[in-house]
Amino acid sequence: MAKFFPMFSGSDGNSTYIGGASGGLIVDVGVSYKRIKQALENAEINLSTIKAVLITHQHTDHIKGLKVFLKNNPVPVVASRETIYALEFQGIINSEYPRVYIDELESVQFEDMVVKSVPTSHDAKGSCCFTVSLGQDQKVAVCTDLGVMSEEIMNELAGSALVMLESNHDPVMLRLGPYTAELKLRIASKEGHLPNAVCAESIAKLFCLGTNRFVLAHLSEQNNTPEKAASATRAALMDKGAKENIDYILYIAEKEGKRIITV
Ligand SMILES: [Zn+2]
Ligand SMILES: [Zn+2]
Repeated sequence: MAKFFPMFSGSDGNSTYIGGASGGLIVDVGVSYKRIKQALENAEINLSTIKAVLITHQHTDHIKGLKVFLKNNPVPVVASRETIYALEFQGIINSEYPRVYIDELESVQFEDMVVKSVPTSHDAKGSCCFTVSLGQDQKVAVCTDLGVMSEEIMNELAGSALVMLESNHDPVMLRLGPYTAELKLRIASKEGHLPNAVCAESIAKLFCLGTNRFVLAHLSEQNNTPEKAASATRAALMDKGAKENIDYILYIAEKEGKRIITV
C-alpha cells in the first residue's frame, strides 16, 4: 500500500510526500524545513526513510526550505538540468552535491519507486511534473504549475491510480482580483497556471482512462476558492456519469494538509 501526503499546497509553499514499501520521496520543499519536519513527524513518517527529493522547478514556493532540508538530510536531488543549475546558482546546493539529472520523459529508480519527469510550459526553465510508479503497478502523479495541459502530460498521467493536479484559479476572480495587470496576464498565460475549467476537463479525461482518485492542488488564495475548484471538477465528472465516493474520490490539497491518502 502506498501513501500520498499533500503536506503543503498553494502559492505560499508546496511539498508532497509519496511513500512506498521501501521508503519515500518528497516532491518540492517549498516551506521551511521546520514545518516539513513537523508535518512528517505528525504523520509518523520517519525522515530517515526519505530516499530523494524531487524538484519540479526553481520558484521559491517549491524550494524555500530545500537548503536546510538537505543540510539535515543529505539525500539526492532529482531535477532537470536547468533546475539543478538554478539550485547551484542560488547556492542551495554546491557542485559536489549528489544529484540525479532527470531529462524529459526519462525515468530513475529508487528501490521499488520509479520516477518519471514530464516537461511543463511553466515560466521556469526546465520546469516539469513527476509521476512515481510504486510496486504493484501503482502510479501516482504530482502535476502543478502548468501553463497548459499538453498531450504529452496527459499521456503520462493516464493510468495513474491517483493524480494531483493544479486547479489554480477561477478566471473571473483573477480578472476582477487585486493582482497587477502584468501578473494577471502571466498567470493566465501558457506559461502560468491552470484554471479550474482546464483542470476539471483534464480530470474527466483521466477518469475515462481509469484514474479514480484526484487531488486538486496549488489553489490560489486570492483568485480561487476550494468550492469553485471542486464544483468545476465535480461537474465535469458528473458529465461522464461518475458518482462521487462511488466511482471516484476527490480531495483538495490544503495549504497545510493533515490527511494521508492511501493508494
Ligand atoms: Zn512556479
Ligand atoms: Zn508554484
